[in-house]
Amino acid sequence: MSHEIAERVIELLERHPSIELLDITGGAPELNPSFRFLVERARALDRSVIDRCNLTILLERGMEGLGEFLAAQGVHIVASLPCYLEANVDAQRGKAVFERSLAALRRLNALGYAMAGSALVLDLVYNPLAGTLPPQQAALEAEYKRVLTERYGISFDHLLTITNVPIARFAHALAREGKLSEYQALLAQHFNASTTASLMCRSLVSVSWDGRLYDCDFNQMCDLPLGSGSGASTVWNVSSFDALTGGAIATDDHCLACTAGHGSSCSGALR
Ligand code: SF4
Repeated sequence: MSHEIAERVIELLERHPSIELLDITGGAPELNPSFRFLVERARALDRSVIDRCNLTILLERGMEGLGEFLAAQGVHIVASLPCYLEANVDAQRGKAVFERSLAALRRLNALGYAMAGSALVLDLVYNPLAGTLPPQQAALEAEYKRVLTERYGISFDHLLTITNVPIARFAHALAREGKLSEYQALLAQHFNASTTASLMCRSLVSVSWDGRLYDCDFNQMCDLPLGSGSGASTVWNVSSFDALTGGAIATDDHCLACTAGHGSSCSGALR
């Protein structure tokens, strides 16, 4: 994302006080030269900010002081830790990622994240290692807390379970193994109508690196344009986000990942 687009995002935030949260994501968003600008300006506008952090970025050379910056700005950190077992994390993310993730979590705890009496929030994200639905969120959170606290002395606030969406790399991996149709059928069989009222696409708008607008990050990855029909397609031609409120949402087969079982969103299970 260019600085010009980051400035435009802040301008739109300023114009729309009803937007309460700026959720920054995308690989390692902290590497973007405009990351600190976005955080500081959004916080100055009294908006909450989430940084979707891969944890190991906190240990990279050149990123010294990143944890301190996030803590000083009161940024809510949502960090991916796909399992509490070293072998599973390293198999999914690469050698030594588990150990480096724990080192980053200890650093965040030392800064006050997830500590008693502190307002600094640190949530972890779980997503299944294979083509299965996530287990019940509260039970898995209790298991993560037991292992991470007892074995490693690490604290976190909440565990968010997120269903794997069959698009991009994950869809290709399933297709290579001949399991794509099976996974899509699993999602369809577990359709849960009670999740539809709280789907995240009802309350967010996703801005891509080049300023285009989407109903959610998954639609952004599929390049599925906004479904509202309002004519707005980028940060430059949207006059008001109010025009998108209550409008149609673009959907496709991958949406069944959000409505399966307990439901799924960037904030975890829906039910
Ligand atoms: S994938 Fe579909 S159901 Fe899920 S948030 Fe996006 S538009 Fe909504």
